[in-house]
Amino acid sequence: MEDFDYDLFVIGAGSGGVRACRIAASLGAKVAVAEERYFGGTCVNVGCVPKKLFSYAAHYHDDLQDSMGFGWQFDNLRFDWAKLKENKDTEISRLNGIYKSILDNNGVTVFEARARIKGPHEILIENKLVTAKYILIAVGGWPWIPEFPGSEHAISSNEIFSLQQLPDEIVIMGGGYIAVEFASIFSRLGCKTTLVYRGEQLLRGFDHDIRHFISTEIGKSLNLKLETDIKEITKQSNQLRVSLNSGEELGCGMVLSATGRRPLTSDLGLDTVAVETTESGAIRVNDDFQTAEPSIYAVGDVIDRVALTPVALAEGQIVARSLFSAVKPDMSYQNIATAVFCHPNLATVGLTETEAETQGYDVDIYTATVKLLKHTLSGRDEASMIKLVVDRVSDRVIGLHLVSPDAGELVQGFAVAMNSGATKADFDRTIGIHPTLAEEFVTMRTKRES
Ligand code: NDP
Repeated sequence: MEDFDYDLFVIGAGSGGVRACRIAASLGAKVAVAEERYFGGTCVNVGCVPKKLFSYAAHYHDDLQDSMGFGWQFDNLRFDWAKLKENKDTEISRLNGIYKSILDNNGVTVFEARARIKGPHEILIENKLVTAKYILIAVGGWPWIPEFPGSEHAISSNEIFSLQQLPDEIVIMGGGYIAVEFASIFSRLGCKTTLVYRGEQLLRGFDHDIRHFISTEIGKSLNLKLETDIKEITKQSNQLRVSLNSGEELGCGMVLSATGRRPLTSDLGLDTVAVETTESGAIRVNDDFQTAEPSIYAVGDVIDRVALTPVALAEGQIVARSLFSAVKPDMSYQNIATAVFCHPNLATVGLTETEAETQGYDVDIYTATVKLLKHTLSGRDEASMIKLVVDRVSDRVIGLHLVSPDAGELVQGFAVAMNSGATKADFDRTIGIHPTLAEEFVTMRTKRES
């Protein structure tokens, strides 16, 4: 049998890569990982975790305002960006250390350097050629900014986490997860915020009713410009001038382009092996995450299936288990719940109404628009929305959508119910918790008239 330096060489110590390393090592494999940037990948460093910390900061703005309707009074309240950034940086450094120690404690050899593939089993790292029985590519993605005059003046979500100070005015381009989340954050942290999106409603791919509803809610707290795009950015001393397709001009201190992410496959040595990529640069894999080069696997954002941290974790775990144990777990992409941390939050699991119809389901639709009890006293002009998509034949709930505070916390539990085949009748016979928004899920009796 051929001898290799390692059983598994992982490129990228983000969510998927670290999980694969840990599981493979715990199953007795000799594992190495290469990471040239930061431990924990996008999620920990310039993604989910610091974004959620910023989102908490933004929520205090609303909570403190709301508290006045409940009798609270305060003077001289002010927000200190430098303090938030410093505390965030400390927490992220702590998490980097935890990710590194997960690798060390599991006996994984860590190379803090760039790795390049040189053959089906060969990797060049720190000017040395090492060999591995299997290679796992888990290099993730990178923000992408379209080219237009002055686009070099726009920053991406990578830079937004290390701003030394906040601009007075910010223009955000895009209508996806990152655009709406940061628009909600900055509008609460004292920046005059304009969100420019080329589509009719924010968040393409989500249910159409929910898109319409969240666009209305988000439009209440910031300047929302739909069906237009940025044509040009010009810089005049420290100020930017943003020209829109609509003919309008905006002045601001910063433009954030949140226009999607691309798989990070360049300069990886893929041309030395049989690995294939798609038009968007994503690595093509089969159901077992194996590329066209049999010894090379790939998981996470670089395969561009579902670019979410928990999906990368599951994929990394599956590859490690299927290579180094007798178990061959399956990956299901059905009913993956997801949340967008805009204000209010949005969370969803299962099919949109349109997807259900396209897939041939005959559906009943239940919707409710609710004003939270809290906002009777807070006076906040904010509503919540629930939508259920029910398969008429089986009575199963096949789509569940929610716009509300902490929507992600609520929808995770419903994802379990839906994965267990919950029917509308199961929802109906469940006693609600009163007074909550969540009880609406089990009290909706009137379907929408078709
Ligand atoms: P998304 O793909 O969600 O959104 C990209 C946005 O940019 C879309 O609105 C798109 O418009 C717009 N866009 C694309 N190209 C252009 C262009 N040439 N000109 C103008 N607008 C353009 O990407 P994000 O960057 O927001 O996020 C990347 C991924 O990261 C997400 O898909 C998600 O998987 C993940 N993520 C998850 C989060 C979470 O779980 N809460 C948070 C943040 C990110 P259009 O819709 O018209 O194509």
